[in-house]
Amino acid sequence: MMNGEKIMSEYVWCHGPNCHTNHTVDRVRGSKGAKVLRTRKIKFYESRYNNFYNYFCSNGCYNDFAHQYAEQIVAIAPRREPLETPIDRVEKIKHENEYHSWTETRIIPREV
Ligand SMILES: [Zn+2]
Repeated sequence: MMNGEKIMSEYVWCHGPNCHTNHTVDRVRGSKGAKVLRTRKIKFYESRYNNFYNYFCSNGCYNDFAHQYAEQIVAIAPRREPLETPIDRVEKIKHENEYHSWTETRIIPREV
């Protein structure tokens, strides 16, 4: 390994602020009289896709983090104007079978 090259650690600690409070046996560490529930360790999946599962052990821990830090998170990429996706039209399609009938609303994308 070349000097100064960044070494990617093989794991990270879950970033969920309440991870260490969840009652699961895999979080129990320590010896009798000094047992703790510890934040989960996560294997860092080497991937070209940025993925929150590299930093959070579960959707619950991800949600806890997002709720706690919502203001800071949106400050990374604030949305001050709405985005728009061009569409061609909205269609109502009637369906029917022997039991009931229903109407499906389909949004037709604009051909580019
Ligand atoms: Zn977690």
